[in-house]
Amino acid sequence: MKIKINYLDTTNKIYLSPPCITNKEIKFVNEALLSGWISPFGSFIDNFTKKLSLYYSHKNILLTNNGTSAIHLALKILNIKEGDYVLCSDFTFAATAFPILYQKAIPVFIGADQKSWNLSPEYLEHALINLKNKNIQPKVLIVAHIYGMPCNMKSIFDICKNYNIKIIEDAAEALGSKYFNLPLGQLGDYGILSFNGNKIITCSTGGALILPNQKDYSYAKKLANQAKEDIDYYKHEELGYNYSQSNILAAIGLAQFKSLNQKVTQRRNIFNYYLSYFKNKLEIESQIEDENCFSNRWLSSFIFPKDLNKKIKDILNKKGIESRYLWNPLYKQTVFKNYFFYGDKSFENYLFKHGLSLPSGNNLTKNKLKRIINIIDKNL
Ligand SMILES: *Cc1c(COP(=O)(O)O)cnc(C)c1O
Repeated sequence: MKIKINYLDTTNKIYLSPPCITNKEIKFVNEALLSGWISPFGSFIDNFTKKLSLYYSHKNILLTNNGTSAIHLALKILNIKEGDYVLCSDFTFAATAFPILYQKAIPVFIGADQKSWNLSPEYLEHALINLKNKNIQPKVLIVAHIYGMPCNMKSIFDICKNYNIKIIEDAAEALGSKYFNLPLGQLGDYGILSFNGNKIITCSTGGALILPNQKDYSYAKKLANQAKEDIDYYKHEELGYNYSQSNILAAIGLAQFKSLNQKVTQRRNIFNYYLSYFKNKLEIESQIEDENCFSNRWLSSFIFPKDLNKKIKDILNKKGIESRYLWNPLYKQTVFKNYFFYGDKSFENYLFKHGLSLPSGNNLTKNKLKRIINIIDKNL
């Protein structure tokens, strides 16, 4: 495996998915600072937006201060209000679902399928039939591509079309992943990205909203700028938010984006390296990449027999190497208790109980990877 990018390495520790900075990021941030444009306007905002728009088949892109705010904006555009029902992946990070509660709407959690660990179309359909009997018609689905693996979008589209449900695609972990050769984030009615520090590309903090047209873009942009009307005095007709991205952070993002393809190749190589080692040793499981799916393998995640995940986490931790358990299902979280859940609780608990994500960062050299495998090998 060749690592072609020269990352600045400042620590002996190995983190799960650390930000990887090169001299390019430093150069761009310097340029941004020297330009004087250090707030939400400037050439790095423009250029990063343009680059993303090109990557996403010329869709409209709004950079935001994080991925969570991008999901919130999508719900606002879709006019989700108090008492509305919003379908949502259950096996995901809580940020996928929090904006539903920001709007005082009601989440309906849909369980994971055994192959992809993503939202199961079967449980989705089951939920909709069941809710219909209760006279409940959800308006929107937020669907997350977990650890970069594409969901079964074809079936999800068919079901949502049938029930007249709009789709927000949470591609926070899936930049660089593809479905039928299309980049994830542009398949739904709206898509969101995250440029948080641990994602495949970072701005330190940041996100993007992928929108289908200029009208939605303008509205989202207004909401993200304190809902200030586009006139020469302060006029606000509705509730606004401060969700804009800074030009300095966009400079980091633009530098990072230039090597997206290499970063995806690296992460896939890291995953395959772990996989080929474990395959001959243990009964492990991982997300299955279906035909026409291409995962960026953001985090190399495996299910281990017995309590091996806990054991591995422990021995790595003692050597200064970070690893992390998989998602604790949302239906179990105190903040989301008492909402509907349709799915297989035992399967999600199994993922949580036996799963572990191993270091997957783009600065993980072959030597470091060998070190990790050696430590695991000696202690198994
Ligand atoms: C990281 C993440 C988010 C939130 O992104 P932030 O930029 O941290 O707000 C949302 N959904 C998923 C699945 C994520 O992994």
